[in-house]
Amino acid sequence: MRRNAHLRYFGGSLSLCHAAAHCQTISIKAENNHCGNQRRAHTAHAGRNIRLHHSGQNRHTPAEDCGRGEEEKLEVKIRDEKQRNKNQKEEHGFMKDVYQRLAEFLDTMPQRFPVNTESGVELRVLKNIFSPDEAEMFLNLKPKPETAAQIAARIGEDPGKLGKKLYEMSKKGLAFRSGREGNYKYMASAFLVGIIEFQMNRMTPELLKEWDEFEPLLYKSTWLKGTTRDLRTIPIGEAVDPNSQVMPYENIEETIRNAKYVAISDCMCRRITAIKNNPCAHPMEVCFHFGGSCHYFVENGLARYISNEEALEIFKKGKASGLVCQVSASQETNALCMCCDCCCGPLRAVKACAKPAEMVNSNFFAKVSDDECTGCELCAERCPMDAITVDDVARVDLDRCIGCGVCAVTCPVEAIKVYRKEKDKEFVPEKNIFESTMAIYKQRRE
Ligand code: SF4
Ligand code: SF4
Ligand code: SF4
Repeated sequence: MRRNAHLRYFGGSLSLCHAAAHCQTISIKAENNHCGNQRRAHTAHAGRNIRLHHSGQNRHTPAEDCGRGEEEKLEVKIRDEKQRNKNQKEEHGFMKDVYQRLAEFLDTMPQRFPVNTESGVELRVLKNIFSPDEAEMFLNLKPKPETAAQIAARIGEDPGKLGKKLYEMSKKGLAFRSGREGNYKYMASAFLVGIIEFQMNRMTPELLKEWDEFEPLLYKSTWLKGTTRDLRTIPIGEAVDPNSQVMPYENIEETIRNAKYVAISDCMCRRITAIKNNPCAHPMEVCFHFGGSCHYFVENGLARYISNEEALEIFKKGKASGLVCQVSASQETNALCMCCDCCCGPLRAVKACAKPAEMVNSNFFAKVSDDECTGCELCAERCPMDAITVDDVARVDLDRCIGCGVCAVTCPVEAIKVYRKEKDKEFVPEKNIFESTMAIYKQRRE
């Protein structure tokens, strides 16, 4: 979209060209000012910088001194004009443009983002998270880490000021920050998984009001597309039949034991239900981070470091509570979510599908031994996917079973266990996060 505005002032003309890209250009021609100087000034505005040049000699003459005064006035006028334009845009709803561009940019990320929805709820959500200035800044980021100096050189900003701004944005979860103090790098992050999780401490009633409408659209346009999900489901170890193979990347207890860093944070989904006065009975602090990503969560006040032993204790409580284990998509496990079907966005989204088993990445399924089952119904009560019905004995609907093992760990007679699927039905995760992200990128565009 292109919009032109011509504004008269100072006996000259100001032309404002608003192109669809991430920059605005203001050209100003000022002639015949009141000192009688024949003068041209050209102001280029890229982001927040204003550079003012005027042609002529470098010697100071009274007329030029007078001209310098005029330059200052000109700068003030430009500032005022910019503010007026900004106010006008806000009044006329033109600020939507930056959020529209932000939505479109987020949709270019591998995970995607809903755009052009009928109600425009995605723009209202973004507006509740980003200020217009922050949204513009986000549009300047790349989906790969760069130092503030590199970004500043790329977009023509002052590195010091930009570094401060990016750090502040990253503290709000509006840009991902990697590395440690003095050596930070910044990058654009996906909305889900990413920006929305980083907003855990910034949830407002206004955002949550939009969230209710937005969440189903978000999962439909992102998570449920393609075949590789952002999280894969793994079974609780004790639930697995002893003759079934468990791959190292499906053994979360080993991951916890071997992790160099472990951090724990509250479950965002349960936080949301708690804010809505509908607190969940399951434990709150059960979102695990492993390795380097811990630092971002801890430094942003979203998580705390814990020892491997404490992590195993928390994990044990989560299992006892009947939570489903969901880990990062790739074989490199850098996160473990312990999820419930009452709060968890991803689980609720797959549960609403006719065949949840087809919508999760899991290599296991539950099976009941008719000879041993007493029909006590405990497994059916615990199953998060409503996959079990009990007549005389329990029956598992394999289209609904996601192989989590929640049913098996409390069966009083060990009549139900989870088993590994046949080789041709197995989901082999990508080796690392880069490869799983690329798979997601490709599949969500097919
Ligand atoms: S995905 Fe699961 S653990 Fe993660 S925030 Fe949602 S419910 Fe909590
Ligand atoms: S919990 Fe065990 S015994 Fe009870 S219905 Fe389920 S499988 Fe049967
Ligand atoms: S039957 Fe239900 S609880 Fe048991 S593994 Fe399947 S989905 Fe999980």
